[in-house]
Amino acid sequence: MPGCQVSSDGAVIEAHNVFKVFVARGDRGGRRAFLALRDVNLLIEPGRFVSFVGPSGCGKSTLLNMVAGLVRPTEGVVRYKGAPIAAVNTKVGYITQDDNLLPWRTLRENVEVALEFRGVPANHRREQAAKYIAMVGLSGFEHHYPHELSGGMRKRTALVRTLIYEPEVILMDEPFGPLDAQTRVILQDELLKLWYGTGKTILFVTHDLVEAIALSDQVVLFSRAPGTIKQVYQVPLPRPRDVFHIHAHPNFAEFYDRLWRDLKEEIIETDLEAT
Ligand code: ADP
Ligand code: MG
Repeated sequence: MPGCQVSSDGAVIEAHNVFKVFVARGDRGGRRAFLALRDVNLLIEPGRFVSFVGPSGCGKSTLLNMVAGLVRPTEGVVRYKGAPIAAVNTKVGYITQDDNLLPWRTLRENVEVALEFRGVPANHRREQAAKYIAMVGLSGFEHHYPHELSGGMRKRTALVRTLIYEPEVILMDEPFGPLDAQTRVILQDELLKLWYGTGKTILFVTHDLVEAIALSDQVVLFSRAPGTIKQVYQVPLPRPRDVFHIHAHPNFAEFYDRLWRDLKEEIIETDLEAT
């Protein structure tokens, strides 16, 4: 069931026939057109946790950038709640692999930054920051600078720095990529707990199929470049999920194998073409 064909009623994000051509400088100073996305069609319903998986360079980040309003389609349209995204989309929060914490600001000052931009009075900012910092177990570290925090603590800081301004949609581009395996699973668990009940939509790019399965309602598989959507899967695991023992669920193995088989076709063909 390619989920890209459903009706757009009520979708929070829609991509219709999206193509993206990047123009890069060629070898001899000429210009070279590069097709990054081809005919992408996708509907995301509000409140869903959706993962994007696919070979490197297939356009996952490009599609997130379109939702954020940072990149425009060459052809086609990406809509947010029905309206074409024509400028930076302030309704979304964006968390990338790089946590982008400001090194000269303390943890609390980093968490407060978006509220500061919005002109929220200092006492209210402080109150909100304390609440969110407590949610991720970082109370007591408010006055530490980013270089004094572990990788996991920095990720938690980046997460609450985004959650604090209550974006309707959260874009996460390989957010746990650089972390060790144990810290990743702990953060996956914390992310699900923070997300349950919020009604927020999350678009999450990952290379890790186990992570995609553990977290998501749907997994979107991209083809190799130029990327298009090959398949949308419903994850057949109930919630709440135990991310620490996700492999033990009776539906896990079969679903993982199917996803891996479909992804492998894209990766292996990419490798063969490159050699
Ligand atoms: P993914 O996130 O799936 O690894 P990206 O969306 O980052 O892939 O990139 C898709 C393709 O588009 C890649 O080949 C990348 O080099 C190219 N690309 C991305 N952004 C730009 C840009 N601003 N200018 C030129 N090429 C780009
Ligand atoms: Mg990327």
